[in-house]
Amino acid sequence: MSYAANVLLIEDNPGDARLIQEMLEEDSHDHFRLWRQADRLSSGLDCLAQGDIGMVLLDLSLPDSYGLETFSTMFARAPELPIIVLTGTDDEVMALSAVKTGAQDYLVKGSVDSRLLQRAMRYAMERKGAENALRESEQRYALTAAGSNDGLWDWQLQEQRIYFSQRWKTMLGFAGDEIGTTDDEWLARIHEQDLPEFRDRLARCVAGQTDHLESEYRIKHKDGSHRWMLCRGIAVRDAQGMTLRLAGSQTDIHERKLAAQQLLHDALHDSLTGLPNRALLMESLQRALDRAQRRPDKIFAVLFIDLDRFKNVNDSLGHMVGDQFLLECARRLALSCRPGDTLARLGGDEFIMLLEEISGEADAIRVAERVQTYFDQALTIQGHELHMSGSIGVVLSAAHYSQPEELLRDADTAMYRAKAQGKSCYSVFDAPMHTEAVAYLQMEADLRRAIERQTFHLEYQPVVALKTGTIAGFEALIRWNHDVRGSIPPWEFIPLAEETGLIVPIGKWVLFEACRQLQAWRNGMPSLAGITMSVNLSGRQFAESDLVAQVADILRQTNLPAANLKLEITESILMADVAVATQKLRQLKETGVRISMDDFGTGYSSLSYLHRFPVDTLKIDQSFIRNMSESTQAVAIVRVIMDLAQSLTMEVIAEGAETAAEVRILESMNCPFVQGNYFSRPLSKQAAAAALSRTDWPA
Ligand code: C2E
Ligand code: MG
Ligand code: MG
Repeated sequence: MSYAANVLLIEDNPGDARLIQEMLEEDSHDHFRLWRQADRLSSGLDCLAQGDIGMVLLDLSLPDSYGLETFSTMFARAPELPIIVLTGTDDEVMALSAVKTGAQDYLVKGSVDSRLLQRAMRYAMERKGAENALRESEQRYALTAAGSNDGLWDWQLQEQRIYFSQRWKTMLGFAGDEIGTTDDEWLARIHEQDLPEFRDRLARCVAGQTDHLESEYRIKHKDGSHRWMLCRGIAVRDAQGMTLRLAGSQTDIHERKLAAQQLLHDALHDSLTGLPNRALLMESLQRALDRAQRRPDKIFAVLFIDLDRFKNVNDSLGHMVGDQFLLECARRLALSCRPGDTLARLGGDEFIMLLEEISGEADAIRVAERVQTYFDQALTIQGHELHMSGSIGVVLSAAHYSQPEELLRDADTAMYRAKAQGKSCYSVFDAPMHTEAVAYLQMEADLRRAIERQTFHLEYQPVVALKTGTIAGFEALIRWNHDVRGSIPPWEFIPLAEETGLIVPIGKWVLFEACRQLQAWRNGMPSLAGITMSVNLSGRQFAESDLVAQVADILRQTNLPAANLKLEITESILMADVAVATQKLRQLKETGVRISMDDFGTGYSSLSYLHRFPVDTLKIDQSFIRNMSESTQAVAIVRVIMDLAQSLTMEVIAEGAETAAEVRILESMNCPFVQGNYFSRPLSKQAAAAALSRTDWPA
């Protein structure tokens, strides 16, 4: 390694100076060369100012400065240079103090030879180099620490003294002199909930169980608030493993921590009402179940609250009003339960109440009734007077429940039962309900499979033209061949299919199959050109946004002329939303299909709307036809409907005629079309094809 240092020699004694000069010249490797020489401190400092000095040899006794003072002045001016002090034999003590305060070495004049001098200078260079590097890295560390905003601390365990960096103190809002060096300055400020853990980690680090300390805690700021900090440290130990020192940093993680807590809160709470959401509710339910396992005598109840007709509020008055409505609902529900109970929003208009530690069913019912009472009060939002009502399903804890989902499922079942009883009802879950619910679930599973396996078929019930006694058309009626239960009638599974949405694929299949079948018959018998096929549409299907496209598609695929297809829609579906229904019917009519209003007369208020709907046919509901033989009133109603249809230029079909007497009455009224068991029950496709060639229907 080559040092090639330029040496500055400050020595007032010419003899000593010459000696040293000679020794330096003996340096065969040319490591050091005498660069400048001075006989006073002041001129020495001047030389320093000219630069290029790598090493100083300094006599402490100079004409203008003496002793330690000489060294201090020089050191202050050139802290980065290695300085070797030259002394006489009598002031070695002074030289030693110089070394303690920063000189690299000292040489006693008179007992120095060339080799000794060379070596001293070499070591001095090395040591100073290392020192400088260390200082540099320390400075760098300090800079990074300052840059990263970390506060530093250094805990001398023996002395029980902690150095806190300025940054450490300002992080807590304190000035440099406001915080001392005791551990109390630190520990006493840590939040009581976080302190035990921090102490524990500290102790483990001191005891040598871990080398690294890492802990998050809240610490008190000067302004009284608590801030989240992350503390990291490492232990310094002696050869025996005794911990001497812990040192590390403290990082402000307050914002990050709050953001994380907010995220956690958001993940577990409903954003509108701030109530626990499904995820948090599930946790609460699980805890309640766990407690009940340990203490079966402690009963809890789950209330499933579903608002009645909330969708109406939302759809007609908009989401702003809908949100206000839900908030008010949440408020009233909160009033109905005790502070320890959990109130959660499952989503939409569904709320759950978990009532803990009740004494029995009566308690739960009381709460349900209280909810109804609070709901009963009218409320006004943005000038609209609204009424709140909810259906409530109640389930009580029982030994067989182990999963939160089971509780919710049964509460939901009970709620549905309540809803079926009308508005503002509650219902407590019981075992038969469970059996029924299971059967329902089983049927849903079966229904899904039935779609995959295509285990549906259609039957066709003839519609007879009374004048000619011929078949004017058919109504396609679906049948489900269940592998265990045999043929299941539509009223048993259509409502379930509606509810689950399975009606959509099923309905499409029916439409396609009915159109395909009629077209097949028409192709075989040209005389049947005008015959129609009626297909029932469910509410859900009617609401499908692409219904019109679906119908047009199927007509194209099956080649059936649109005029041969009649879509049957019940009066109540049309009445649900008159404006939307009218629009939809218009679009359907544009494809060329015809529309029948099914079960006419059963949904009340439609007479006033009837003329608005672009409907071709009214199907008089079976109940009127069935009653005609006994009730003159029923006869009158049927007559009124027929007159009405005539004045609106609509066709009429009387449905469900079973007896000759009924048919006779209808004939006397000039009813053009009849569909009923009197003429024919719904037929298989083979039987229907055979019936088509028949002309002699009994009249
Ligand atoms: P709907 O549309 O009013 O169909 C007429 C129902 O009355 C049929 O029952 C038919 O068999 C029955 N019926 C006809 N004449 C008589 C009679 O003289 N006496 C008696 N007692 N009943 C008679 P079905 O096939 O059980 O269908 C019941 C309901 O199920 C239908 O009422 C319709 O609303 C629905 N449905 C049937 N097939 C489908 C379908 O493919 N899709 C949809 N969405 N609903 C369907
Ligand atoms: Mg029908
Ligand atoms: Mg009907």
